[in-house]
Amino acid sequence: MVVKKDENTTDKNIQEELKDEILSKEQKKEYHSLKFSKIENQVKQSLKEQKTDDTLRDITIWALVLGSSDIHYESFVDYVVVRFRIDWVLVDIFKISHKEYKLILERLKYASWLKLNITDIPQDGKYSMIIESRDIDVRISTLPVWESENVVCRILDNSKSIIDFDDLWFFWTTKRFLEKSISKKNGMVLVTWPTGSGKTTTLYTILSKLNTRDKKIITLEDPIEYTMDWVIQSEVNEKKWFTFHSWLRAVLRQDPDIIMVWEIRDLETLETATQASLTWHLVLSTLHTKSAAETLDRIINMWLKPYIIASALDTIVAQRLVRKICPHCKREKEKTPEEQAIVEAMMKDIGMSIRPAKNIKLYEWAGCEKCNHSWYSWRIGIYEIISLNHKLRDMIREWATAEEIIAESRNWDLITMKEDWILKAIKGYTTIEEILRVI
Ligand SMILES: [Zn+2]
Repeated sequence: MVVKKDENTTDKNIQEELKDEILSKEQKKEYHSLKFSKIENQVKQSLKEQKTDDTLRDITIWALVLGSSDIHYESFVDYVVVRFRIDWVLVDIFKISHKEYKLILERLKYASWLKLNITDIPQDGKYSMIIESRDIDVRISTLPVWESENVVCRILDNSKSIIDFDDLWFFWTTKRFLEKSISKKNGMVLVTWPTGSGKTTTLYTILSKLNTRDKKIITLEDPIEYTMDWVIQSEVNEKKWFTFHSWLRAVLRQDPDIIMVWEIRDLETLETATQASLTWHLVLSTLHTKSAAETLDRIINMWLKPYIIASALDTIVAQRLVRKICPHCKREKEKTPEEQAIVEAMMKDIGMSIRPAKNIKLYEWAGCEKCNHSWYSWRIGIYEIISLNHKLRDMIREWATAEEIIAESRNWDLITMKEDWILKAIKGYTTIEEILRVI
Protein backbone atom coordinates (compact mmCIF):
# COMPACT_ATOMS: atom_id res chain seq x y z
CA MET A 1 0.00 0.00 0.00
CA VAL A 2 2.74 2.40 1.10
CA VAL A 3 4.81 1.67 -1.99
CA LYS A 4 1.85 2.33 -4.22
CA LYS A 5 1.21 5.66 -2.55
CA ASP A 6 4.86 6.67 -3.06
CA GLU A 7 4.65 5.76 -6.72
CA ASN A 8 1.59 7.93 -7.11
CA THR A 9 3.28 10.85 -5.42
CA THR A 10 6.30 10.55 -7.71
CA ASP A 11 4.02 10.34 -10.73
CA LYS A 12 2.25 13.47 -9.58
CA ASN A 13 5.56 15.32 -9.07
CA ILE A 14 6.76 14.34 -12.53
CA GLN A 15 3.49 15.53 -14.00
CA GLU A 16 3.80 18.86 -12.21
CA GLU A 17 7.35 19.29 -13.49
CA LEU A 18 6.30 18.45 -17.03
CA LYS A 19 3.44 20.87 -16.77
CA ASP A 20 5.74 23.69 -15.60
CA GLU A 21 8.19 22.95 -18.35
CA ILE A 22 5.56 22.98 -21.09
CA LEU A 23 3.99 26.17 -19.79
CA SER A 24 7.35 27.94 -19.49
CA LYS A 25 8.04 27.33 -23.18
CA GLU A 26 4.63 28.56 -24.19
CA GLN A 27 4.62 31.04 -27.04
CA LYS A 28 3.13 34.27 -25.77
CA LYS A 29 1.74 36.43 -28.48
CA GLU A 30 0.23 39.85 -28.18
CA TYR A 31 -3.26 40.26 -29.39
CA HIS A 32 -3.22 42.66 -32.32
CA SER A 33 -5.51 43.47 -35.16
CA LEU A 34 -5.91 46.05 -37.87
CA LYS A 35 -9.32 46.70 -36.34
CA PHE A 36 -7.71 48.29 -33.26
CA SER A 37 -6.25 51.23 -35.17
CA LYS A 38 -9.56 51.61 -36.98
CA ILE A 39 -11.31 51.98 -33.61
CA GLU A 40 -8.65 54.44 -32.42
CA ASN A 41 -9.04 56.65 -35.51
CA GLN A 42 -12.80 56.63 -35.26
CA VAL A 43 -12.75 57.54 -31.55
CA LYS A 44 -10.17 60.29 -31.94
CA GLN A 45 -12.07 61.80 -34.85
CA SER A 46 -15.34 62.04 -32.93
CA LEU A 47 -13.52 63.43 -29.88
CA LYS A 48 -11.94 66.10 -32.09
CA GLU A 49 -15.39 67.07 -33.29
CA GLN A 50 -16.59 67.02 -29.67
CA LYS A 51 -19.24 64.42 -30.57
CA THR A 52 -18.76 62.43 -27.39
CA ASP A 53 -22.10 60.73 -27.84
CA ASP A 54 -20.69 59.09 -30.97
CA THR A 55 -17.47 58.23 -29.16
CA LEU A 56 -19.25 56.28 -26.46
CA ARG A 57 -21.43 54.57 -29.02
CA ASP A 58 -18.47 53.60 -31.20
CA ILE A 59 -16.52 52.17 -28.29
CA THR A 60 -19.55 50.16 -27.13
CA ILE A 61 -20.28 48.86 -30.64
CA TRP A 62 -16.67 47.81 -31.20
CA ALA A 63 -16.56 46.07 -27.84
CA LEU A 64 -19.60 44.06 -28.92
CA VAL A 65 -18.17 43.36 -32.37
CA LEU A 66 -15.01 41.94 -30.78
CA GLY A 67 -17.06 39.83 -28.36
CA SER A 68 -15.90 41.65 -25.22
CA SER A 69 -17.51 41.31 -21.83
CA ASP A 70 -16.01 44.47 -20.30
CA ILE A 71 -14.49 47.80 -21.27
CA HIS A 72 -11.74 49.16 -19.03
CA TYR A 73 -10.53 52.76 -18.95
CA GLU A 74 -7.23 52.88 -17.07
CA SER A 75 -5.53 56.12 -16.22
CA PHE A 76 -1.73 56.43 -15.95
CA VAL A 77 0.52 59.46 -15.53
CA ASP A 78 0.97 60.23 -19.23
CA TYR A 79 -1.98 58.60 -20.91
CA VAL A 80 -5.20 56.61 -20.52
CA VAL A 81 -5.53 53.17 -22.04
CA VAL A 82 -8.78 51.64 -23.23
CA ARG A 83 -8.86 47.86 -22.92
CA PHE A 84 -11.46 45.23 -23.78
CA ARG A 85 -11.79 41.92 -21.99
CA ILE A 86 -12.18 39.36 -24.75
CA ASP A 87 -12.60 35.76 -23.60
CA TRP A 88 -11.16 36.76 -20.19
CA VAL A 89 -8.02 38.26 -21.62
CA LEU A 90 -7.54 41.98 -21.26
CA VAL A 91 -6.48 43.44 -24.57
CA ASP A 92 -5.08 46.97 -25.06
CA ILE A 93 -7.12 48.57 -27.80
CA PHE A 94 -5.80 52.15 -27.91
CA LYS A 95 -4.37 55.00 -25.85
CA ILE A 96 -5.68 58.51 -25.47
CA SER A 97 -4.49 61.67 -23.77
CA HIS A 98 -5.89 62.81 -20.45
CA LYS A 99 -7.55 65.70 -22.25
CA GLU A 100 -9.39 63.29 -24.54
CA TYR A 101 -10.26 60.98 -21.67
CA LYS A 102 -11.83 63.81 -19.73
CA LEU A 103 -14.41 64.19 -22.52
CA ILE A 104 -15.20 60.47 -22.55
CA LEU A 105 -15.38 60.29 -18.76
CA GLU A 106 -17.87 63.15 -18.63
CA ARG A 107 -20.04 61.49 -21.27
CA LEU A 108 -19.85 58.13 -19.48
CA LYS A 109 -20.91 59.66 -16.17
CA TYR A 110 -23.62 61.75 -17.77
CA ALA A 111 -25.08 58.78 -19.71
CA SER A 112 -25.06 56.66 -16.55
CA TRP A 113 -26.68 59.26 -14.29
CA LEU A 114 -23.60 59.62 -12.11
CA LYS A 115 -22.71 62.87 -10.38
CA LEU A 116 -20.25 64.71 -12.60
CA ASN A 117 -18.79 66.82 -9.83
CA ILE A 118 -18.01 63.85 -7.57
CA THR A 119 -14.60 62.50 -8.43
CA ASP A 120 -13.24 61.35 -5.09
CA ILE A 121 -15.57 58.47 -4.22
CA PRO A 122 -16.54 55.38 -6.26
CA GLN A 123 -19.88 55.49 -8.10
CA ASP A 124 -22.07 52.86 -9.83
CA GLY A 125 -24.48 53.37 -12.66
CA LYS A 126 -25.74 52.09 -15.97
CA TYR A 127 -26.13 53.36 -19.51
CA SER A 128 -28.32 51.77 -22.18
CA MET A 129 -28.20 51.75 -25.93
CA ILE A 130 -30.12 50.21 -28.76
CA ILE A 131 -27.67 48.88 -31.30
CA GLU A 132 -29.17 47.29 -34.40
CA SER A 133 -32.39 46.61 -32.49
CA ARG A 134 -30.48 44.93 -29.64
CA ASP A 135 -30.98 46.33 -26.13
CA ILE A 136 -27.57 46.80 -24.63
CA ASP A 137 -27.17 47.69 -20.95
CA VAL A 138 -23.75 48.65 -19.69
CA ARG A 139 -23.10 48.68 -15.94
CA ILE A 140 -20.38 51.11 -15.05
CA SER A 141 -18.36 51.61 -11.90
CA THR A 142 -15.78 54.28 -11.21
CA LEU A 143 -12.77 54.23 -8.94
CA PRO A 144 -10.90 57.41 -7.98
CA VAL A 145 -7.20 57.08 -8.81
CA TRP A 146 -4.32 59.52 -8.87
CA GLU A 147 -5.60 62.72 -10.52
CA SER A 148 -8.37 60.88 -12.38
CA GLU A 149 -10.94 58.10 -12.23
CA ASN A 150 -10.77 54.61 -13.66
CA VAL A 151 -13.91 53.15 -15.16
CA VAL A 152 -14.90 49.54 -15.75
CA CYS A 153 -17.97 48.81 -17.86
CA ARG A 154 -19.68 45.41 -17.85
CA ILE A 155 -21.69 44.78 -20.99
CA LEU A 156 -25.04 43.06 -20.47
CA ASP A 157 -26.38 42.07 -23.83
CA ASN A 158 -30.05 41.24 -23.28
CA SER A 159 -30.59 39.84 -26.72
CA LYS A 160 -27.49 37.68 -26.81
CA SER A 161 -28.74 34.38 -27.99
CA ILE A 162 -28.61 31.49 -25.58
CA ILE A 163 -26.45 28.60 -26.69
CA ASP A 164 -28.21 25.44 -27.68
CA PHE A 165 -27.82 22.54 -25.24
CA ASP A 166 -26.03 20.55 -27.89
CA ASP A 167 -23.47 23.32 -28.32
CA LEU A 168 -22.23 23.21 -24.73
CA TRP A 169 -19.57 20.74 -25.81
CA PHE A 170 -20.73 17.86 -23.63
CA PHE A 171 -19.69 14.44 -24.76
CA TRP A 172 -22.63 12.12 -24.99
CA THR A 173 -21.99 10.29 -21.71
CA THR A 174 -21.83 13.57 -19.81
CA LYS A 175 -24.83 14.89 -21.64
CA ARG A 176 -26.83 11.79 -20.78
CA PHE A 177 -26.18 12.31 -17.05
CA LEU A 178 -27.21 15.90 -17.13
CA GLU A 179 -30.28 15.36 -19.29
CA LYS A 180 -31.43 12.66 -16.93
CA SER A 181 -31.05 14.79 -13.82
CA ILE A 182 -32.77 17.87 -15.22
CA SER A 183 -35.70 15.83 -16.47
CA LYS A 184 -36.56 14.89 -12.88
CA LYS A 185 -39.36 16.60 -10.99
CA ASN A 186 -37.23 17.31 -7.98
CA GLY A 187 -33.60 17.34 -6.98
CA MET A 188 -30.74 19.74 -6.89
CA VAL A 189 -28.29 20.32 -9.70
CA LEU A 190 -25.21 22.31 -8.72
CA VAL A 191 -22.94 23.89 -11.27
CA THR A 192 -19.63 24.69 -9.64
CA TRP A 193 -17.16 27.10 -10.96
CA PRO A 194 -14.06 29.08 -10.31
CA THR A 195 -14.51 32.68 -11.51
CA GLY A 196 -15.04 33.09 -15.23
CA SER A 197 -15.83 29.48 -15.96
CA GLY A 198 -18.98 30.18 -17.89
CA LYS A 199 -21.61 29.12 -15.39
CA THR A 200 -23.94 31.78 -16.81
CA THR A 201 -23.93 30.12 -20.20
CA THR A 202 -24.51 26.64 -18.79
CA LEU A 203 -27.33 27.67 -16.45
CA TYR A 204 -29.22 29.71 -19.02
CA THR A 205 -28.86 26.94 -21.57
CA ILE A 206 -30.26 24.37 -19.13
CA LEU A 207 -33.12 26.74 -18.28
CA SER A 208 -34.01 27.31 -21.91
CA LYS A 209 -34.13 23.54 -22.41
CA LEU A 210 -36.54 23.24 -19.47
CA ASN A 211 -38.63 26.20 -20.51
CA THR A 212 -42.02 24.80 -21.55
CA ARG A 213 -45.46 26.25 -20.88
CA ASP A 214 -46.55 23.48 -18.53
CA LYS A 215 -43.99 24.55 -15.93
CA LYS A 216 -43.44 27.58 -13.82
CA ILE A 217 -39.82 28.62 -13.69
CA ILE A 218 -38.63 31.33 -11.31
CA THR A 219 -35.10 32.61 -11.12
CA LEU A 220 -33.33 34.57 -8.44
CA GLU A 221 -30.47 36.45 -10.00
CA ASP A 222 -27.87 39.05 -9.29
CA PRO A 223 -27.85 40.63 -11.84
CA ILE A 224 -30.19 39.40 -14.58
CA GLU A 225 -27.87 38.91 -17.53
CA TYR A 226 -30.27 37.60 -20.14
CA THR A 227 -34.01 37.95 -20.28
CA MET A 228 -35.99 34.87 -21.25
CA ASP A 229 -39.57 34.60 -22.42
CA TRP A 230 -41.91 32.82 -20.01
CA VAL A 231 -39.35 32.62 -17.23
CA ILE A 232 -40.10 34.72 -14.17
CA GLN A 233 -36.86 36.44 -13.40
CA SER A 234 -36.32 38.21 -10.14
CA GLU A 235 -33.31 40.36 -9.41
CA VAL A 236 -32.15 40.34 -5.81
CA ASN A 237 -31.70 43.71 -4.32
CA GLU A 238 -29.67 43.17 -1.18
CA LYS A 239 -29.33 46.87 -0.65
CA LYS A 240 -32.77 46.85 0.90
CA TRP A 241 -33.29 44.85 4.05
CA PHE A 242 -34.11 41.67 2.15
CA THR A 243 -31.35 39.08 2.01
CA PHE A 244 -30.80 36.50 -0.71
CA HIS A 245 -32.29 33.90 1.55
CA SER A 246 -35.50 35.83 2.25
CA TRP A 247 -35.96 36.44 -1.48
CA LEU A 248 -35.71 32.70 -2.01
CA ARG A 249 -38.45 32.06 0.54
CA ALA A 250 -40.67 34.58 -1.26
CA VAL A 251 -39.99 32.77 -4.55
CA LEU A 252 -41.08 29.46 -3.01
CA ARG A 253 -44.43 30.94 -2.03
CA GLN A 254 -45.06 31.60 -5.75
CA ASP A 255 -45.58 27.89 -6.41
CA PRO A 256 -42.78 27.25 -8.91
CA ASP A 257 -41.83 23.91 -10.47
CA ILE A 258 -38.27 24.89 -11.20
CA ILE A 259 -36.13 27.39 -9.34
CA MET A 260 -32.79 28.76 -10.34
CA VAL A 261 -30.88 30.28 -7.46
CA TRP A 262 -28.03 32.31 -8.84
CA GLU A 263 -25.50 31.42 -6.22
CA ILE A 264 -25.44 29.63 -2.90
CA ARG A 265 -23.52 32.02 -0.75
CA ASP A 266 -24.36 30.89 2.75
CA LEU A 267 -25.76 28.08 4.81
CA GLU A 268 -29.22 29.67 5.09
CA THR A 269 -29.62 29.83 1.31
CA LEU A 270 -28.36 26.27 0.95
CA GLU A 271 -30.81 25.05 3.58
CA THR A 272 -33.78 26.72 1.89
CA ALA A 273 -32.70 25.46 -1.53
CA THR A 274 -32.32 21.95 -0.11
CA GLN A 275 -35.75 22.16 1.49
CA ALA A 276 -37.16 23.20 -1.89
CA SER A 277 -35.57 20.19 -3.56
CA LEU A 278 -37.02 17.87 -0.91
CA THR A 279 -40.49 19.34 -1.37
CA TRP A 280 -40.72 18.55 -5.08
CA HIS A 281 -38.97 21.33 -6.86
CA LEU A 282 -36.13 21.07 -9.31
CA VAL A 283 -33.46 23.44 -8.01
CA LEU A 284 -30.57 24.69 -10.13
CA SER A 285 -27.81 26.62 -8.50
CA THR A 286 -24.11 27.38 -8.41
CA LEU A 287 -21.39 27.12 -5.84
CA HIS A 288 -17.96 28.69 -5.94
CA THR A 289 -15.76 25.59 -5.80
CA LYS A 290 -13.11 24.13 -8.08
CA SER A 291 -14.16 20.50 -8.44
CA ALA A 292 -16.86 17.98 -7.75
CA ALA A 293 -14.80 16.64 -4.84
CA GLU A 294 -14.40 20.06 -3.26
CA THR A 295 -18.14 20.66 -3.60
CA LEU A 296 -19.01 17.40 -1.88
CA ASP A 297 -16.47 18.13 0.79
CA ARG A 298 -17.88 21.55 1.49
CA ILE A 299 -21.55 20.66 1.60
CA ILE A 300 -21.16 17.40 3.47
CA ASN A 301 -18.51 18.30 5.98
CA MET A 302 -19.11 21.93 6.59
CA TRP A 303 -22.71 22.68 5.88
CA LEU A 304 -25.40 20.06 5.74
CA LYS A 305 -26.16 16.83 7.53
CA PRO A 306 -25.22 13.91 5.24
CA TYR A 307 -28.69 12.30 5.31
CA ILE A 308 -30.26 15.54 4.07
CA ILE A 309 -27.80 16.08 1.26
CA ALA A 310 -28.04 12.40 0.28
CA SER A 311 -31.74 12.90 -0.44
CA ALA A 312 -31.67 16.43 -1.83
CA LEU A 313 -28.62 16.54 -4.08
CA ASP A 314 -28.76 14.98 -7.50
CA THR A 315 -25.92 16.11 -9.69
CA ILE A 316 -22.76 18.18 -9.51
CA VAL A 317 -21.36 19.67 -12.68
CA ALA A 318 -17.87 21.10 -12.22
CA GLN A 319 -16.73 23.07 -15.19
CA ARG A 320 -14.01 25.17 -16.76
CA LEU A 321 -13.92 27.02 -19.99
CA VAL A 322 -10.89 26.72 -22.18
CA ARG A 323 -10.17 28.79 -25.24
CA LYS A 324 -10.87 27.03 -28.47
CA ILE A 325 -8.13 26.99 -31.07
CA CYS A 326 -8.87 29.16 -34.12
CA PRO A 327 -10.06 26.82 -36.89
CA HIS A 328 -8.68 29.15 -39.57
CA CYS A 329 -5.03 28.98 -38.59
CA LYS A 330 -4.87 25.69 -36.67
CA ARG A 331 -2.18 23.19 -37.67
CA GLU A 332 -0.83 19.94 -36.33
CA LYS A 333 2.35 20.27 -34.30
CA GLU A 334 5.35 18.11 -33.63
CA LYS A 335 5.03 16.89 -30.03
CA THR A 336 7.94 17.66 -27.70
CA PRO A 337 9.16 14.81 -25.45
CA GLU A 338 7.58 16.62 -22.48
CA GLU A 339 4.22 16.84 -24.20
CA GLN A 340 4.41 13.21 -25.23
CA ALA A 341 5.22 12.27 -21.62
CA ILE A 342 2.42 14.28 -20.05
CA VAL A 343 -0.18 12.92 -22.43
CA GLU A 344 1.02 9.40 -21.65
CA ALA A 345 1.02 10.05 -17.90
CA MET A 346 -2.48 11.48 -17.94
CA MET A 347 -3.86 8.69 -20.08
CA LYS A 348 -2.36 6.21 -17.65
CA ASP A 349 -3.83 8.20 -14.78
CA ILE A 350 -7.37 7.92 -16.07
CA GLY A 351 -6.91 4.34 -17.24
CA MET A 352 -7.55 5.19 -20.84
CA SER A 353 -5.97 3.02 -23.49
CA ILE A 354 -8.17 3.63 -26.49
CA ARG A 355 -5.10 4.43 -28.56
CA PRO A 356 -1.36 4.75 -27.99
CA ALA A 357 -0.39 8.22 -26.72
CA LYS A 358 2.10 8.62 -29.55
CA ASN A 359 -0.72 8.59 -32.07
CA ILE A 360 -2.46 11.48 -30.39
CA LYS A 361 -2.19 14.67 -32.36
CA LEU A 362 -1.66 18.03 -30.73
CA TYR A 363 -2.28 21.32 -32.41
CA GLU A 364 -0.83 24.80 -32.62
CA TRP A 365 -1.78 27.97 -34.42
CA ALA A 366 -0.26 30.26 -36.99
CA GLY A 367 -2.22 33.43 -36.20
CA CYS A 368 -4.59 35.14 -38.60
CA GLU A 369 -6.77 38.24 -38.85
CA LYS A 370 -9.88 36.14 -38.07
CA CYS A 371 -8.68 35.50 -34.50
CA ASN A 372 -6.89 38.87 -34.14
CA HIS A 373 -3.63 36.90 -34.05
CA SER A 374 -4.62 35.61 -30.67
CA TRP A 375 -4.91 31.97 -31.81
CA TYR A 376 -8.25 31.33 -30.24
CA SER A 377 -11.84 31.83 -31.18
CA TRP A 378 -14.60 31.34 -28.68
CA ARG A 379 -14.42 28.78 -25.89
CA ILE A 380 -15.36 25.22 -25.07
CA GLY A 381 -16.38 23.66 -21.78
CA ILE A 382 -14.47 20.97 -19.93
CA TYR A 383 -16.68 19.13 -17.45
CA GLU A 384 -16.68 16.76 -14.54
CA ILE A 385 -20.07 15.37 -13.63
CA ILE A 386 -21.15 13.30 -10.63
CA SER A 387 -24.69 12.02 -10.58
CA LEU A 388 -25.73 10.44 -7.31
CA ASN A 389 -27.21 6.96 -7.45
CA HIS A 390 -28.50 4.78 -4.61
CA LYS A 391 -25.03 3.44 -3.79
CA LEU A 392 -23.46 6.89 -3.59
CA ARG A 393 -26.41 8.21 -1.57
CA ASP A 394 -25.95 5.36 0.92
CA MET A 395 -22.27 6.20 1.20
CA ILE A 396 -23.05 9.85 1.92
CA ARG A 397 -25.54 8.84 4.61
CA GLU A 398 -22.82 6.75 6.19
CA TRP A 399 -20.45 9.71 6.38
CA ALA A 400 -18.16 8.65 3.55
CA THR A 401 -15.51 11.22 2.70
CA ALA A 402 -15.57 13.13 -0.59
CA GLU A 403 -12.51 11.12 -1.66
CA GLU A 404 -14.29 7.81 -1.07
CA ILE A 405 -17.35 9.01 -2.95
CA ILE A 406 -15.30 10.12 -5.93
CA ALA A 407 -13.42 6.80 -5.93
CA GLU A 408 -16.72 4.91 -5.91
CA SER A 409 -18.19 7.09 -8.68
CA ARG A 410 -15.34 5.96 -10.93
CA ASN A 411 -17.16 2.62 -11.03
CA TRP A 412 -20.31 4.40 -12.11
CA ASP A 413 -19.14 6.31 -15.14
CA LEU A 414 -17.96 9.46 -13.43
CA ILE A 415 -16.38 11.63 -16.08
CA THR A 416 -13.38 13.42 -14.63
CA MET A 417 -12.15 16.69 -15.94
CA LYS A 418 -8.87 15.08 -17.01
CA GLU A 419 -10.76 12.52 -19.02
CA ASP A 420 -12.85 15.16 -20.66
CA TRP A 421 -9.84 17.22 -21.64
CA ILE A 422 -7.86 14.29 -23.02
CA LEU A 423 -10.83 13.49 -25.26
CA LYS A 424 -11.14 17.12 -26.31
CA ALA A 425 -7.40 17.39 -26.96
CA ILE A 426 -7.56 14.28 -29.14
CA LYS A 427 -10.27 15.97 -31.12
CA GLY A 428 -8.01 19.00 -31.57
CA TYR A 429 -10.35 21.55 -29.99
CA THR A 430 -7.69 23.36 -27.99
CA THR A 431 -3.98 23.50 -27.18
CA ILE A 432 -2.21 21.51 -24.50
CA GLU A 433 -0.91 24.70 -22.83
CA GLU A 434 -4.43 26.04 -22.45
CA ILE A 435 -5.63 22.88 -20.79
CA LEU A 436 -2.63 22.59 -18.47
CA ARG A 437 -3.26 26.13 -17.33
CA VAL A 438 -6.83 25.52 -16.22
CA ILE A 439 -6.73 22.06 -14.68
ZN1 LIG B 1 -6.58 32.36 -36.52
